Amino acid sequence: MSDPASNHHHGTILRVAVPSPLRTLFDYLPPKKPAGKAMPGVRIRVPFGRRQVIGIVVALADATTIASDKLRHASEILDDEALLPEALTGLLEWAGRYYQHPPGDVWSTALPVRIRQGTALNAAIEMWQPTTDLETASTQLSRAPRQLALVLMLLEAGKMSREEILGEGFSSQQINELANKQLIASEMQSSAPDEPFVRTSAPLNKALALHAEQQAALTAIAPYHNKFHCFLLDGITGSGKTEVYMQLMADILASGKQCLILVPEIGLTPQTIARFTDRFSVPIVAMHSGMNDTERCQAWLQARAGSAAIIIGTRSAIFTPLRNPGLIIVDEEHDSSFKQQDGFRYSARDLAVMRGQREQVPVLLGTATPSLESLHNALQGRFTHLRLQRRAGDSVPAAMQVIDINNADPQTAFSESALLQMRQQLDAGNQVLAFINRRGYAPMLQCLQCGWIAECDHCTAHLTYHTRPASLRCHHCGEQSVVPSACPGCQGRNLNTMGVGTQQLESYLEAEFADVPIIRIDRDSTRSKARLADLLAQVNAGEPCILLGTQMLAKGHHFPNITLVVIIDADGGLFSADFRGQENMAQTIVQVSGRAGRSERTGTVLIQSRHAAHAILQQLTTASYHDFAVNLLAERKATVMPPFAHMALFRTETDKPETGISFLRDIGAQCTRANTAWGSQIDCLGPMPCPMEKRAGRYRSQLLLKGESRAALQSMLNHLVETIEAKRIPAKLRWSVDVDPQELI
Ligand code: ADP
Ligand code: ZN
Ligand code: ZN
Repeated sequence: MSDPASNHHHGTILRVAVPSPLRTLFDYLPPKKPAGKAMPGVRIRVPFGRRQVIGIVVALADATTIASDKLRHASEILDDEALLPEALTGLLEWAGRYYQHPPGDVWSTALPVRIRQGTALNAAIEMWQPTTDLETASTQLSRAPRQLALVLMLLEAGKMSREEILGEGFSSQQINELANKQLIASEMQSSAPDEPFVRTSAPLNKALALHAEQQAALTAIAPYHNKFHCFLLDGITGSGKTEVYMQLMADILASGKQCLILVPEIGLTPQTIARFTDRFSVPIVAMHSGMNDTERCQAWLQARAGSAAIIIGTRSAIFTPLRNPGLIIVDEEHDSSFKQQDGFRYSARDLAVMRGQREQVPVLLGTATPSLESLHNALQGRFTHLRLQRRAGDSVPAAMQVIDINNADPQTAFSESALLQMRQQLDAGNQVLAFINRRGYAPMLQCLQCGWIAECDHCTAHLTYHTRPASLRCHHCGEQSVVPSACPGCQGRNLNTMGVGTQQLESYLEAEFADVPIIRIDRDSTRSKARLADLLAQVNAGEPCILLGTQMLAKGHHFPNITLVVIIDADGGLFSADFRGQENMAQTIVQVSGRAGRSERTGTVLIQSRHAAHAILQQLTTASYHDFAVNLLAERKATVMPPFAHMALFRTETDKPETGISFLRDIGAQCTRANTAWGSQIDCLGPMPCPMEKRAGRYRSQLLLKGESRAALQSMLNHLVETIEAKRIPAKLRWSVDVDPQELI
């Protein structure tokens, strides 16, 4: 600290991350009444403006640039040990800098709400145990089979936390009713027994005999059990990646270490957790948005204390502290849900690799459709590339076929050939999956007389026509309106829907295939988790049916009786404005196709397109995702796009479009000046209105920065963000920067 203007305080300045949008730490003096020791990583209550807030001590310093009369004392230190292990604290600091995000908000994202609010680290947790015997329970609960099942489970387990009980599929209501009947009782127990889970030499039930490729993968990872290395487990759907995860985990658990598994969306695939609970006899906790704050906090505390052995969670679980980290797995690593799209825009997949490095544990990225970033890393040798190219068991991959729909009736969406094959499969007792990525009845409502199209008042977007009840809805801001009886433009009465969505296809299929159930799965039909579970159970019952749905079907499900998959319209991704459009389309097609023919019955995938001869569709069907991806990588290299270049996207949202554009034009000019001054080569594209210029009533514009050197781009971002922070931001303008943006829309 050589700054002559700074005030020296000899190690007593606390640098605190405070929940605030400012990209800086705030300096405080220790509390006047010394209680507890200030050290990096502890929570601290501090005065901030007129409020008291909870922040995190990030560092201690000898000096501050704050004038002595402005420097305030912190109020209270809340912890006597750091919240997070050093490796994780370091990761957060790094991520805040890399993603150009305020440190206070980085910490807020990383911590469970309860911890942020000050819940003590040794808070108690509610444990349930039976207060009855088998006989009494059976008589009293003869008409409440689920409650009886719950009591039986507790009789067997002894004690379970509320969260564990809910994790077994019981409801809070069932717990409460049993408590009222005095058949079970709870007591509070320290949430995180301060001891690691009991290590066991046999944490594994029912391991399968690995096939050669699986064995090779496991053998390749073995030398890296106690150090960092990243592996891409690139295995076709059904090749047995999960079995590799589980056997690897068994080895790691046997050495007393914890496993962290990131998955895209737990709510959609309850089977995921069930597969692990079936297999392992060690404590497993989940971390996802479907849990309440208390449950999340408890799971977090158990992971931190080391008493949870396996932690399965969605994106933000990457920040879960582990007392004895042993392994990080990212399942479906290509999935875009690993990138947070607002606020702290981190990539949990990329942070998993960084975390592995800091914690010195192996990282395993698994998928049937690697992202081009990971594939590139694997082909370059930075990641070890482990491939599983054949299916486990007897099933064979589905055969793919492209069907030209140029002559098909646009309102039915299905080609004759698809309808014929659907009929054949259903008659043979099999199930069919029809995939379309549009929910609602129709994506547009148009006047046939004057051409008027129903648009959202608040967004640059068409309104989607929904039935039951009939309404127009905006899929971007949620706005709903009634369907006009006459055209607002010409008063004509010839309003017609254009294109098809899931609701329309459902009606069509119900009429066309009246003898089998049509099971529609999209965000509208599955507002409740129970409803989704019901629908999936219906499919899993195995009777002939047509499963109709959106993206939600692409993820992790197993439908052994599906023998035919129809991709209703593959064209959206072929000509997408987004540079990842083709990659994402191919991933979706392959993932959806992977649901077919998972048992001994072989499957067929029909891809309907108006551009049947398109090179991409040809590659996907005649070669493999791998060949397709390698070709696409060559294209990205030729056009200098990620992963051969790095990007950052500045966005603004304002009430007037010009304000955003001129704000970004300034940033662009700064960038050009800095390029000249430093001899750097960061391309600056824009400013321009976002492809969806207006959303929820706000005008959006963007400026794209691109550079071949990640370091040069980072320096430029540091410089630009610093200049923005130093100047006055126009009122009503909100800006953000998205490093490694997932989509440019
Ligand atoms: P992936 O995760 O790659 O899609 P899974 O791990 O779900 O594949 O495996 C697909 C199916 O094959 C599962 O039913 C699984 O139990 C089975 N399976 C996996 N490995 C083996 C094996 N070595 N022998 C027999 N069956 C296996
Ligand atoms: Zn009209
Ligand atoms: Zn809207």
